[in-house]
Amino acid sequence: MRIDWPGIDHVFLDMDGTLLDLHFDTHFWHQVLPREYARVNELTVESALKSLRARFEAKRGQLEWYCVEFWSRELQVDVMSLKQQNPNKIALRPGVSEFLEGLQRLGKKFSLLTNAHREVVNLKLKKTGLQEKIEEVYCSHDFGHAKESEAFWERFSDSVKFDPGRTLFIDDSEPVLEAAEQFGIKWLRSIRVPDSQQPRIAPSRFVEIDRLAEIL
Ligand SMILES: [Mg+2]
Repeated sequence: MRIDWPGIDHVFLDMDGTLLDLHFDTHFWHQVLPREYARVNELTVESALKSLRARFEAKRGQLEWYCVEFWSRELQVDVMSLKQQNPNKIALRPGVSEFLEGLQRLGKKFSLLTNAHREVVNLKLKKTGLQEKIEEVYCSHDFGHAKESEAFWERFSDSVKFDPGRTLFIDDSEPVLEAAEQFGIKWLRSIRVPDSQQPRIAPSRFVEIDRLAEIL
C-alpha cells in the first residue's frame, strides 16, 4: 500500500540501519571491539570473538544489548571511547538528507526513535551532521525498555503524544516493527539492506525501502 501522506502527522525514524549505515556497528562489534577485548585479555581474536558472541547473544533485543555502559562494565573495555576513536565508518544511508528535507516540506513532525545509548546518538548525529536536521531524539533507555518490547510502546506513548493511526515508523529490525505493529502503529516500513557491506538479510514481512527518499 502506498503511503498516504495526508493521513500521517508523525514520522518516527530509527537510527542505526535506517538513517545510518549499519556497517559502522557491524564493523565495531565484530572487529574493533573483539580486537581490543583480545588485546586486553591476551586472547587470540578468534577466541575473543567466540566468547563475545555468546555474551552478545544472551542479551539480544534487551536494553543492555544497546547499552555502552553495560558492555564497558561487563567486558572491562571502555566501549564509548573505543567508538570515539573509530568513528570513520559512521555514515548516512543514501537519500537521507533528501528524505528529511522532503518531510519538512510536507510539514510532518519527525523524530529519531532509537535503542542506541544517548552518548552514541550524540557522537553519530554530530559526525553525520544530522543534529541540525533532527529536533527530537527519543532513546528507549529513557523509557526503561527496548523498542522490541510492548512495555516500551506503552511508556513511550504515555509521555509522547501521537496518534498511532496517523504515524509512520521506519526501522530495520523485524522484532521492533512487530512490537510497533502490536501497539497499533498503522504505517510501518522496513529497510531492505541496512548494512551496505553485507548481503541483504531475509525479506521482511513489512514493506521494504531501499532509498528513504523513494517513499516521498
Ligand atoms: Mg536499527
